[in-house]
Amino acid sequence: MDSQNITKQPHSWGRYPKVKHSQVQSIYWRNELPDIAQLEETALPFAYGRSYGDSCLNEGGVSLDVSHLQRFISFDEETGLLRCEAGISLAEILEVLVPRGWFLPVSPGTKFVSVGGAIANDIHGKNHHRSGTFGCHVTRFELLRSNGERLLCSPEYNSEMFRATIGGLGLTGLILWAEFRLKPIVNPYIDMDHIRFASLDEFFEISAESDADYEYTMSWVDILIGGKNLCRGNFMRGNHNRSRQLASKPMKKRLPLAVPIDFPSFALNSLSVKAFNELYYHKQIPKRVHKIVSYDPFFYPLDSIHDWYRMYGKRGFLQYQFVVPFEEGHHAMREILARIRRSGEGSFLTVLKTFGDITSPGMLSFPRPGLTLALDFAYDGQKTLRLLEDLDHIVLQSGGAVYPAKDARMSAKSFQAFFPGWKEFSAYVDPKFSSSFWRRVTAAVPDSVDNHGDPELTRIGDTIR
Ligand SMILES: Cc1cc2nc3c(=O)[nH]c(=O)nc-3n(C[C@H](O)[C@H](O)[C@H](O)COP(=O)(O)OP(=O)(O)OC[C@H]3O[C@@H](n4cnc5c(N)ncnc54)[C@H](O)[C@@H]3O)c2cc1C
Repeated sequence: MDSQNITKQPHSWGRYPKVKHSQVQSIYWRNELPDIAQLEETALPFAYGRSYGDSCLNEGGVSLDVSHLQRFISFDEETGLLRCEAGISLAEILEVLVPRGWFLPVSPGTKFVSVGGAIANDIHGKNHHRSGTFGCHVTRFELLRSNGERLLCSPEYNSEMFRATIGGLGLTGLILWAEFRLKPIVNPYIDMDHIRFASLDEFFEISAESDADYEYTMSWVDILIGGKNLCRGNFMRGNHNRSRQLASKPMKKRLPLAVPIDFPSFALNSLSVKAFNELYYHKQIPKRVHKIVSYDPFFYPLDSIHDWYRMYGKRGFLQYQFVVPFEEGHHAMREILARIRRSGEGSFLTVLKTFGDITSPGMLSFPRPGLTLALDFAYDGQKTLRLLEDLDHIVLQSGGAVYPAKDARMSAKSFQAFFPGWKEFSAYVDPKFSSSFWRRVTAAVPDSVDNHGDPELTRIGDTIR
């Protein structure tokens, strides 16, 4: 264990907000743990900072760097049960276990996240409709509480703490190690289809046709086209390839590129987004393309550009991911896209997906059945914050929720409405643990606050142009 007077402050992927911690304590060994109760300020685990907003930050408090807890503990080749320390990354697990014929049960859009982070945000992947969230595959873990207790948590032991910690945003204690089930694969390749679609209706059609036969689905979308089609895009779907011959075919190594400097803030604007969308939409000439690709470019296309957040310049950017129930999907999307178009803001990396109905064990987990859209906006001060608050209101009215792992600004009122289980959850929060996110979203909500104090919001329902 090592206490550092900060030279390098932890930051989240969106680099907004920028906060200062009082200190960073690095943890290297499971038998040499900090006495958290003795710390003057509150503490929060931090792994690789792949959360976009402030749920991994603890302004003024202690950041517990768990990224050095990265040892494999055991692997059962019969059942696929892996036990490892919580700071190990999904990339390291893939490196070791894919050649042995095993794959992650659920993977997000980057492999540079830790097992602890995957549990704390109960992450989802392209296979949510088939496999639910990461937490659905966790069988147990050990949790360090600030009073020094080390709790073994599973669906049978300390089961409520187990449920609170899955999707518990790092607030219930420090996960030291975790055990979860991997799935067998025959080779590292994916049978992939790319299908171009010209409207939201067409997206729904392809999605309905694909969910039964394809394990992985997601779409890149262009939301700036306007008109009744609402959006257009490329639908990607895939299954693990089952050919034994391909098991020994070496995968092409991707040479990572890096963004060496922070781009100037004018580099990303709605015109450059429109130009990028046009190119990307037409990059594939035929409407349908079938390919066999290795798992890396299929699951992690963005990982080939290191530090891509620098494209958004020094001010950083905000991700915004929401889910709305299927019944409201069309209406909510129409309202949201109209509001974004009015704002003149563009989102480069817009991803559309459906969530299935597999319930997660997590008390505070984000995924629920419906349509989920992830967008990102360069941070442009109040203008961006106002836009996202308006979007919150539409999501709220549609019975949906916004993803805490990607949030840096939602109000306490919105959070408490999106996650009505937060009060039950707060009983399990460790008294010495806190985060910038948690302090913001659990602030008291005055009864008189409605419409987030913004008269603009009264126009919801009237936004379709
Ligand atoms: C390019 C990109 C694509 C992404 N795609 C997806 C996606 O498809 N689906 C999805 O769900 N998410 C996605 N994410 C978000 C990302 O998966 C989550 O934010 C993930 O939790 C980050 O893990 P991390 O290890 O970097 O943890 P951090 O961001 O450092 O921390 C995340 C949370 O975990 C807690 N934590 C970390 N380690 C521990 C521990 N040992 N014990 C207790 N708590 C701990 C922290 O306190 C914090 O609350 C994406 C992020 C990026 C940058």
